[in-house]
Amino acid sequence: MQAGRSEATDRRRFLFGAAAAGGASVLGLGGCATARPAATAAAGVASYDLPPPLHLVRAHPDRIMDITVCLRPFRAQGPRLDVEAVGDKTVVHNYGHGGSGWSLSWGSSAIAVKKALAAGDRDIAVLGCGALGLTSAVLLQEAGAKVTIYAKDLPHQTRSARATGTWSPDSRIALAREAGADFPALWEEMCRTSYKTYQSYLGLPGDPVEWTDRYMLSDLSPEEMRARRHPDPIGFAQYQDRVRDLSPRSKVLIGGQHPFPTRYALRNSSMTFNVAALARRLTADILLAGGKIERRGFESPAQLAELPQRTIINCTGYGARALWKDESVTPVRGQIAWLIPQPEVDYGVYYNNVTMLSRSDGIVIQDTGADEGAGFNDGDETPDRPSAEAALAVIAGLYARMKPPHG
Ligand SMILES: Cc1cc2nc3c(=O)[nH]c(=O)nc-3n(C[C@H](O)[C@H](O)[C@H](O)COP(=O)(O)OP(=O)(O)OC[C@H]3O[C@@H](n4cnc5c(N)ncnc54)[C@H](O)[C@@H]3O)c2cc1C
Repeated sequence: MQAGRSEATDRRRFLFGAAAAGGASVLGLGGCATARPAATAAAGVASYDLPPPLHLVRAHPDRIMDITVCLRPFRAQGPRLDVEAVGDKTVVHNYGHGGSGWSLSWGSSAIAVKKALAAGDRDIAVLGCGALGLTSAVLLQEAGAKVTIYAKDLPHQTRSARATGTWSPDSRIALAREAGADFPALWEEMCRTSYKTYQSYLGLPGDPVEWTDRYMLSDLSPEEMRARRHPDPIGFAQYQDRVRDLSPRSKVLIGGQHPFPTRYALRNSSMTFNVAALARRLTADILLAGGKIERRGFESPAQLAELPQRTIINCTGYGARALWKDESVTPVRGQIAWLIPQPEVDYGVYYNNVTMLSRSDGIVIQDTGADEGAGFNDGDETPDRPSAEAALAVIAGLYARMKPPHG
């Protein structure tokens, strides 16, 4: 397993907030992982931190039910949240959230909604119904406003519907050298607000949000992986140290303590968004509260003059690049192969640059690339079946070396 900077970064994304607490003692005691010590608390990991029996993924190409490509709407300065006058309309922008749109949605939309309400109107338009449009609409309604969403694509057709569905609040959110001095604190505010709001979606019918376990698998120890880091070619900002208190620490499991065919497994828990259920829930809540969704595309900002509402929140995501002629929105391509759901698989793995995340609406198989630059400035949304199958082959190779939990 190659363990460069990308791997370390992707591990953080996947396990978010994962400091390897207890790792040193575990690794010290194990010395050489091939010793395969018994899985006991005496080996440095409490028995309740050891994995339960894990069901295997049926990683066959004929179980790929879809291959989707999504473009992350990346802006070097971070998301656009300023207010602009367009004719007699007040437009509050809320776009450009890179690989963090679902994760930061509540916090970013809370800021946009506050600015929209400050304009004085209580009948407000929202452009777009991806993660940012839906959460803006819910928050506007909670504040007592009447809402109409105008969007070219319905929720299940948006780019948000093609996301991995993990808590990743600082994934490709800005460039460290171009984000303003105030941005880290703003990011933290968005992150904390979102995190708190998402906890209120736990345990709802359909599990729109849940916490699931993740395993980062490698034959290299965490120390070896750290030593092999190389520079991020793009220079993305990393802010997770500011919110380390939000996430549990990861546990380093060595051979014998986990069922995987690798020497090490870093175990952690993270929030999973079952995006189909989440988007459906938000849509239903908006409609139940009297909101409207009108299917409508806009070619230019001048067309906003046709809307009856005077205040508009612009949540057009990557679409803002064409609509607003905003070249600061850079596409970052990402592809997912979706396997038929297996409800019995209730965890995720990260192995050899490939992520597997089991969700209620499908199993995500995603090649996250050899480094953080993968997909940067690539606006091609055409699915690539050979590369989807190659990513799946990595996961198939992993499971081929595992025993079924009860077999
Ligand atoms: C492969 C991949 C995996 C990802 N995984 C995660 C993840 O695990 N966690 C996470 O937090 N984020 C993730 N992201 C990032 C996340 O998907 C985006 O940040 C998010 O989808 C952006 O949401 P949005 O609402 O701004 O845009 P969109 O979802 O693109 O929605 C835009 C809306 O605006 C409408 N629109 C656009 N242009 C116009 C127009 N001209 N006229 C009318 N309507 C218009 C569209 O129809 C749509 O309704 C991932 C991204 C990719 C590519």
